[in-house]
Amino acid sequence: MADVLKKVPVREQDPKVRATNFEEVCLGYNMEEAVEEAGRCLNCKNAKCIDGCPVSIDIPAFIHEVKEGNIEEAYKVIGKSSALPAICGRVCPQESQCEGKCIRGIKGEPVSIGKLERFVADYALENDIKPVGAEKMNGHKVAVIGSGPSGLTCAGDLAKKGYDVTVFEALHELGGVLVYGIPEFRLPKEKVVAKEIEKVKELGVKFETNVVIGKSTTIDQLMEEEGFEAVFIGSGAGLPMFMGIPGENANGVFSANEYLTRSNLMKAFDDAYDTPIIAGKKVAVVGGGNVAMDAARTALRLGADVHIVYRRSEAELPARVEEVHHAKEEGVIFDLLTNPKKINVDENGNIKSVTVIKMELGEPDASGRRRPVEIPGSEYDIEVDTVIMALGTSPNPLISSTTKGLETNRRKCIVADEDNGETSKEGVFAGGDAVTGAATVILAMGAGKAGAKGIDEYLSGK
Ligand SMILES: Cc1cc2nc3c(=O)[nH]c(=O)nc-3n(C[C@H](O)[C@H](O)[C@H](O)COP(=O)(O)OP(=O)(O)OC[C@H]3O[C@@H](n4cnc5c(N)ncnc54)[C@H](O)[C@@H]3O)c2cc1C
Repeated sequence: MADVLKKVPVREQDPKVRATNFEEVCLGYNMEEAVEEAGRCLNCKNAKCIDGCPVSIDIPAFIHEVKEGNIEEAYKVIGKSSALPAICGRVCPQESQCEGKCIRGIKGEPVSIGKLERFVADYALENDIKPVGAEKMNGHKVAVIGSGPSGLTCAGDLAKKGYDVTVFEALHELGGVLVYGIPEFRLPKEKVVAKEIEKVKELGVKFETNVVIGKSTTIDQLMEEEGFEAVFIGSGAGLPMFMGIPGENANGVFSANEYLTRSNLMKAFDDAYDTPIIAGKKVAVVGGGNVAMDAARTALRLGADVHIVYRRSEAELPARVEEVHHAKEEGVIFDLLTNPKKINVDENGNIKSVTVIKMELGEPDASGRRRPVEIPGSEYDIEVDTVIMALGTSPNPLISSTTKGLETNRRKCIVADEDNGETSKEGVFAGGDAVTGAATVILAMGAGKAGAKGIDEYLSGK
């Protein structure tokens, strides 16, 4: 008899094997495991898990359908709230959202909501279950900028209401960070992301790639010359930050964004592609978020010994617990309470080491976390040939600087209403990382939904 206090375990690739390949780490539930796990749900009347979900999926209802073996019905329940469940089931921080509120979690482990969502969504992709679209078009034309989770969600929700939606994407591939940032071993591109975007296309959304708004055309032109009555900006936060330490301009120092883009989108890991990447043998990744874990685990798979250099302690690591656990299992070395001071190069300009200093935690800072303070005289060198900076990103100012009357804050984020995405410019709405700065997939999706609601209210009132 299975222990109902514990999640049905999910199958994963062996750490030693997966550290040398780019295939997906987590293998997901099969039907039998999913039905068993669904049986742990208490189907609470006042379901707290729904409050924990930024797009308010009716979690007990979809889990009930799984329990009964009605997977197509379960997909329909999820589809009412989310256009990208196979993606969210893989990358959402469920531990702090839906699962964090699950009553089962008080005495044991919460229901594995994320893995059940993934199971249902994968079933829908494998069996080509179609999403339910609009019955007729309403004649209004809307532009969406960016094909990341916020743009895809906004576009999908508007298409379901009958809007004529075109998504403009700067890159040659659709998906935003889902394709260029998050690695294949966490989120398969062909099997999951491309197929889930296909479902948004099936709702009638049109996509134009290689269009950089602010260069190829502007928001003002889209609205004044191209007949778009409203615009949603979901252009993300793709501009990397650096530390400003000596040696940071050396050859072999990457931003995590560049490193991951070369690996994910330009397939630098695949010998059949000639994308250059320095496959360092000893790599330091600076930072402690999801991006740092992804860069570290990618470098590991490219054959390096990898150190994560993070200035606070393990308790403050901002990455998902699951990602830290996987990184450790695979052999990433964590240099915690440690901060880089300079990057040292040899006479040929090649990196030979990074000088770091030990830190201790002092009083809490404005973020409420204890401030890291240097311990004088504790510097030492870590021998590396590559350094990857994963210190956070901010929005690219291209769109705000080319759109009349669009207000931004001091962090270069677009100012927009949380409930409906309204900006300072009439007819222009925004959401996701472009508004909040780097955040999460599900928050970007929530903002895309709010933007679609705002645009619908604005245009139906016109
Ligand atoms: C490496 C990495 C790992 C992550 N891991 C996780 C995770 O595990 N879980 C999680 O929840 N979140 C994770 N995140 C964060 C999450 O991916 C982002 O918060 C989310 O993708 C933001 O969605 P978005 O739609 O706002 O922007 P994005 O996904 O950044 O998409 C923006 C899109 O707009 C396009 N664009 C930008 N400017 C223009 C322009 N001028 N014209 C036309 N198009 C433009 C971009 O090319 C891009 O495709 C991770 C982020 C990174 C970088």
